[in-house]
Parts: sequence; structure tokens; C-alpha cells
Amino acid sequence: MRFITPKNALEGHGKPVPGTSDIVHDYSITCEKCKKALTTDELENELHVCPYCRYHFRINARQRIHMIADADTFTEHEKELSPSNLLGFPGYDEKLRAARLKSAEQDSTVCGECEIGGSKAAIFAMDPFFMMGSMGSVTGEKISRTFERALSANLPVVGFAVSGGARMQEGMVSLMQMAKTSGAVKRHSDGGNLFVCVLTDPTTGGVTASFAMEADIILAEPYAMIGFAGPRVIEQTIRKITFECMSCSYPYNMTFVPTNSIYWPHSCPFCCWRKYITAILWKRDCNRYHYISLWKKINSE
Ligand SMILES: [Zn+2]
Repeated sequence: MRFITPKNALEGHGKPVPGTSDIVHDYSITCEKCKKALTTDELENELHVCPYCRYHFRINARQRIHMIADADTFTEHEKELSPSNLLGFPGYDEKLRAARLKSAEQDSTVCGECEIGGSKAAIFAMDPFFMMGSMGSVTGEKISRTFERALSANLPVVGFAVSGGARMQEGMVSLMQMAKTSGAVKRHSDGGNLFVCVLTDPTTGGVTASFAMEADIILAEPYAMIGFAGPRVIEQTIRKITFECMSCSYPYNMTFVPTNSIYWPHSCPFCCWRKYITAILWKRDCNRYHYISLWKKINSE
């Protein structure tokens, strides 16, 4: 989105004039935290993180995969799977149609295989622009199949979680996905394979209570809301809000903390900047993960 800032009020919102690029500003996005104007180029260069206050903008599933996969190595699976209104829930069809238009995806998860820093991995990324990444039957199926495929090929899984929880329009079927995905994660883990999960804003509800917290290594982006219930529900229930992040002092609404996970040592126990997430999954540090993978394999035998 590009527009010209008018020189004075009378000129109004002028259209870009060829050859006058020196007065074109693409200040099209305002940071939600510090309210500074940002150009789209600036944001792209910073991986959609505000250069002034480090606010992490929400990005879609394909941008996530693009961020970490080596160029031209991503192969998508289950592209054709699409949710339907199983229970005839009123208004669900319209919601699905709107979500497909908004996100250009068939469901809230994109999954497949790619190479990360030259190592093959199975990958899934949830999309906040498709019904806030809510977990329905297709989401659960796609994630489970990602783990099953990774198990048969002995590959690690890298996942990006973002979710408002189970999709209420699918009722019990969406809740069943918690058990289904957890089972798939367990079988994948018992096979001695590694699962790295990155929690992004927001990761809540059924996704937090299942596969997102079952990873061997859990990373999270700063300022991400992570918990089982939303802030309002917690406040009403326990009469106090927050636990603060040790590095960014952001108040988290943590309802529980995973205990059997290995955290990345250079950041606070829970958060890790987007640039850093990309770097540690991308570069040689990936080898560390393979050591852990190897260790798991030896222990499972
Ligand atoms: Zn900012």
C-alpha cells in the first residue's frame, strides 16, 4: 500500500506521480505497541518485528515456513483437506467461507516437509488469519499425519503453534483432536524423534493442552499470550492476573508451565526473538537438536 503524504491540506491525498519517488512514503503500518509508523520494506527486513519496540506482528503460516525453510525445499502435504460443517452448526459455513477468503488457505494449518539448514524436517505452521488458528477436525488430522509421516521417515518435526483453542463449531469432534494429536506426538517421540514447537501469539486452549506443550524443545515469541484460558477468564477465576516474563517483563497469562522441556539457554525460559528462532533452527545449532534426537533414540532402544 503506497500513498503520498500531501504537502498541505489543500492538495489532499494525491496519487503517486511517476518520477517523484522522493516524496513517496510507504508508511502504511502503525506498530500496535509503540504506535510508530513503519514501512512495509522495513517490516519485511525485520521479519515483521517492530525495529523500535520489538513488537512481534502476527504473520501467516506460509510466511513462517518461508522464514525457516531453505529456498525451494518445501513440499506441501494434505493441501486438499478442507473442513466442513459436520454438525450443521448455524453460521459455520459462512465463517469458513470468510476465513478462506481472508487467509487464502483451506484450513488453519499448513503442513509438509522441507529442509532447514540442509537437514530434512517435517513442518507444520498454524495460521492466525484462519479463524485465529482454531483446531478443528482437519487441523488435527493434518498435524497427526505430519507426525505419522515424520515417524515413518525418521524426521524431526518443527511446528509453529498459534491458536485460540478448539473450534467450538465442531463440538466434541474438535476436542477429540487433542487426544489424536497427542497420540501422534507420543508415537513420534517413542520412535526417538525430535519435536520442536514455537509458541506464537496467541497459543491457548486445546492446542496448549495438547501437542504445543508436548514438544522436546519449546520456544516462544516475546509478547505472545500463552496459556489455557484467556486473560479475562483467569482474572475472574483466580482474582489476579499475571506472571511476568523474566526478559521482556511482559505479563503472561500462564496457567501452567511445561516442566519436561529443554529450554534454549540464551533467552529467558520462555521467550525468544523471531530472528533468533529463525537463526537457531536454521544454522548449525540445528545440530544440537540432532544430538538430542540421537540421545532420545539411544534411550528408546
Ligand atoms: Zn513498535
